[in-house]
Amino acid sequence: MLKMAKTDLDAFVDALVKASYVVLGPIQEGEATKFGVVGGEEIKIPRLTTRPLKELFFPQDESLLSFDRSGTPDASVDTSGVLASDGISPRVALGVRPCDARALVLLDNVFASDDYRDPYYTLRREKTVIITFACPLPGVACFCESTGGGPYDETGSDILFVEVAGSYLVKAVSEKGKGLLQEVFPPCILHEADDEDIQAAAEARARGELPANAGVPIEAAAAILGHVDAFGDSAWEEVYKKCLGCAVCTYLCPTCHCFDIGDEVTGASGERIRNWDSCMFPLFTLHASGHNPRPSRKERFRQRVMHKFNYFVENNDCMACVGCGRCVENCPVNLDIRQVLTTFARRELA
Ligand code: SF4
Ligand code: SF4
Repeated sequence: MLKMAKTDLDAFVDALVKASYVVLGPIQEGEATKFGVVGGEEIKIPRLTTRPLKELFFPQDESLLSFDRSGTPDASVDTSGVLASDGISPRVALGVRPCDARALVLLDNVFASDDYRDPYYTLRREKTVIITFACPLPGVACFCESTGGGPYDETGSDILFVEVAGSYLVKAVSEKGKGLLQEVFPPCILHEADDEDIQAAAEARARGELPANAGVPIEAAAAILGHVDAFGDSAWEEVYKKCLGCAVCTYLCPTCHCFDIGDEVTGASGERIRNWDSCMFPLFTLHASGHNPRPSRKERFRQRVMHKFNYFVENNDCMACVGCGRCVENCPVNLDIRQVLTTFARRELA
């Protein structure tokens, strides 16, 4: 275990930049925070960025390829952008919270599985080292422990920082993280932690508490939602009612991953663009015939919840929620997924 003074965080970033890493950390964009390129200015680690970490790997929109048919009957196709060997530089994502790191492992089931490997996502994953900062003060909407994670969870991290008094204890979690620490950092920034530091970190971890309302009965809710009768449960008639269908919950969710692909063409050339999409939009399931199997907000809201706590579990053996609370904090009508889950948890299995 290593140790670093908190005041050396900027020097830590400078060392990464000097070693030719692109450092992505929390940055301010208007009223929101998100991950973006940092270096040369003071780093501030917020409790949780407004926008999720997933967009470093699965951007809101990206060009998959470009094409040109001018002067030839056959289109020439160029996929060299991101997929070129130098299309993505080695990167470090710094200041990640444990829920966002864990969400990446869930997304790997979709974009980096044995059945399908998305080359754009996997290239970014391979080129990125994840440095997670444990949460000393989880927020009022957090319920990560209910979903199997926690403020000190290491899942998905390559390196974990734990804040202790004026220092960070720095733990290499993966070989990738160990390699980075060995490659980049001089002993003047990182040095060996002593037994007292390790004891202090263990105590901080033991003291780490979640807010009183964080205990969401997810296992009980998932048992009901996984039941064969869940789809037709009468509770759906009520729980969705406040929903406006704005899709903020899905866009800010670190595990939501629906997308659409379209060609944007000007004259004989154009680009194939992948954009985030959302099951909360009516067009998402509209058939060319005009039929829509999810015609109202009720079916669309049910889809969001059932996908996270039933269908994803069936396909991947884990639920598609890490309890980050972003959907709770940012829903314009305070539709709280914790309350929806509690409603189901209280129902009897048929
Ligand atoms: S953020 Fe709230 S209102 Fe908007 S789609 Fe999600 S649940 Fe509905
Ligand atoms: S469903 Fe809500 S609490 Fe769960 S991971 Fe998504 S945004 Fe976070």
